[in-house]
Order: sequence, then structure tokens, then C-alpha cells
Amino acid sequence: MSTSKRVARPQVNTTGVITIAAVAILTVLCANYKGFDHKFTLVTPSYNPYRDFNVFINELVYKYLGVDSVATSVYGVGIVEILNKQLGVEGGYYMACYLRDLLAGTGVYWITAGIWHYIIYNVYGNDLFEERGRPRPDNSVMIDQMCLAQASLFVYAALPILSEFMIENNLTRTYYNISDIGGPLYYIIFLVIYIILVEFGIYWMHRTLHTNKFLYKYIHGLHHKYNMSKTAEDKSQNKRAEDMSLTPWASIAFNPLDGILQASPYTFFLLFVPVHYYTHVFLLFFSGVWATNIHDAVWGDSEPIMGAKYHTLHHTHYMYNYGQFFIYCDKIFGTLLVPDDYKLHDGTAYRTKFFGVDKTRTD
Ligand SMILES: [Zn+2]
Ligand SMILES: [Zn+2]
Repeated sequence: MSTSKRVARPQVNTTGVITIAAVAILTVLCANYKGFDHKFTLVTPSYNPYRDFNVFINELVYKYLGVDSVATSVYGVGIVEILNKQLGVEGGYYMACYLRDLLAGTGVYWITAGIWHYIIYNVYGNDLFEERGRPRPDNSVMIDQMCLAQASLFVYAALPILSEFMIENNLTRTYYNISDIGGPLYYIIFLVIYIILVEFGIYWMHRTLHTNKFLYKYIHGLHHKYNMSKTAEDKSQNKRAEDMSLTPWASIAFNPLDGILQASPYTFFLLFVPVHYYTHVFLLFFSGVWATNIHDAVWGDSEPIMGAKYHTLHHTHYMYNYGQFFIYCDKIFGTLLVPDDYKLHDGTAYRTKFFGVDKTRTD
């Protein structure tokens, strides 16, 4: 509809583009210059702390989640022994890692979204909804999000297997001892560079998932079905962005391929940037926790962090705010839409856009 106000798109910031390019080039030069003694090779070194750590974590997860005791009571041996017997030592090991990632990912999703749910809808529910005249999301929406997220977790759990395989086989620049790269200062420098590049990678991956019509239609569009409000009251009322059906349960409710594509920069940039193994694993899981936060549709000032208000706006306006942790990529590449500037809460200017999915896609 022509009544909806069109949002002007900012210009690309050339200085920002040059800065990102400089960071990328410096990374490669720095990683080599520093004398980080890393030779890409397919040979598994005799000393492989990554695998030792993964084996340790597998044992821990299976023991404390009771998987081993169930397997032992039924088959007389633990789950790892069963897998090794069925799939061989290597196949059994990677299957054990996959199942561990699946269990861990499932745990992180349900616990994080569950806590968020309790805080938003129970502890602060009255303040955030009834007092503002804002309808609560329908239970059916949340159940839909839970089902999609849990189904996709079966595929998401495969990505860490790929990165673990590459790391264990010395195909990345991941390191295990901080002394390998020259001490804590270099740990911090490379970590900052890694986060900058991962943010850059996720920004462009997410943006491509929108601008490429095929990718949007068959892969990313599924996540955007949660733009639509489904509460009974909303069907007959004025609609506002904050009334959408975004909930913490939508955090990883994607087409599984979508989730893997958007997380792939975490693995890809290990090829160029030395990153401590634990830090890489932590960041992978933390991104899942973060996704819960930005989908809760609870607004707060968070700049330069890409908080929920920015991501809520992404769900209503599509071609803006693609970033994950920070707003700088959107600022640099001309897609930042600042919520306060557009008076989103007044609920009138963009009403047609909120629900005109196809119309907004043609922006
Ligand atoms: Zn999107
Ligand atoms: Zn989203």
C-alpha cells in the first residue's frame, strides 16, 4: 500500500569497508608473521589434545546424562563401546561426537529458551504484556517453534562434527596452548579479529539468504513465518511490531540448512585465524544462547550490540539489521535501521509492512 512510509536506505560507508578489508589482510599476514608454527596437513599428530578433550567430554556427557547407564543396563556395555562395535573406531567416535552435540545443543536450547520464557512471560509478564495492552503470543506459535527447532537440531549437530574433524586433523589454525601463539596478548588480538570476521561472514550470509530469491523462498523464509502475529485478539486489532509472534523459542527455529549456513563462518574463519579451541566451542554454543535473546521481542537500548529491538525490526522490515552480535556491519554496508528513529511503537506507520510479506520483499 502506498500509505506505508518507505524507509530510506543509508549509504555504504567506504571507510568501514576498507577497515574490514584491512582486518582480513592483516589477519593473514599477522598469523603467518607471528611465526605461529602451523602446517596444514592431513596427518593426525601423535599428540592430539583436541581429540583427547572431545573423548573426555563425550564420556562426561554420556555418564552424567544417564545415557551410559541405560546402555549398560540393556546391552551390558556403554554407548561408546556399542558405537565402536557397530561403526568401527573412527565411525563410532564421530557418531559419539554427533550424539553428544545433539544432546548438548538440545539441552542448551530447552534450558535457555525455558529460562527466558519464565522470565518474560511469568516474572515480568504483567509488565511486558497486560500493562502495555500487548497480547501474549499464542501457545500454538511457541509449540510450532519448538518442533521446528528440535527437528533442525538433528542436522545442526553435524556442523561441530565437521569443525572437529578439521581441527583434529590439523586442517585449521586452531591451537590448544596459548603459548603456541605467543601468549595472552595474541590470544586477545586474534580473538577480536576472529569475532570481527565471523560477524562479517554471518552478515553477508544472512543478507544473501534474503537477496537471493531462491534461498529466501526455500531456506530462510521458513524462519520469517514468525513475523506474523497469531494471537486471537490481533486478528481484529491494529498490529504493531512488538505484537508479533517472535518468542525466545524461535531462536534456532530455522530450516536446518539455514542454521548451518549462518553458523558456517565460525568454522570457515578457523582456516585463517588462530583461535583457541575452547573459545571456538564456547562461541558456537554462545551463539545459540544469543539467538534466544534477540528473538524475545523485549526492547532495550543495547548499542553497539545488535539487541532484540534490532532483530525484531529485521523480522518486520526484512532488508535491514542482518548482523548477529553487533550493528557495525549493517552500519558499514548500509542496512542499519535504528528502531527509535522510526517510531516503531506507534504502530501506524508500518502497519502494512508488518503483514505484507510479499510486498516488503520487493523493497
Ligand atoms: Zn532474516
Ligand atoms: Zn530471527
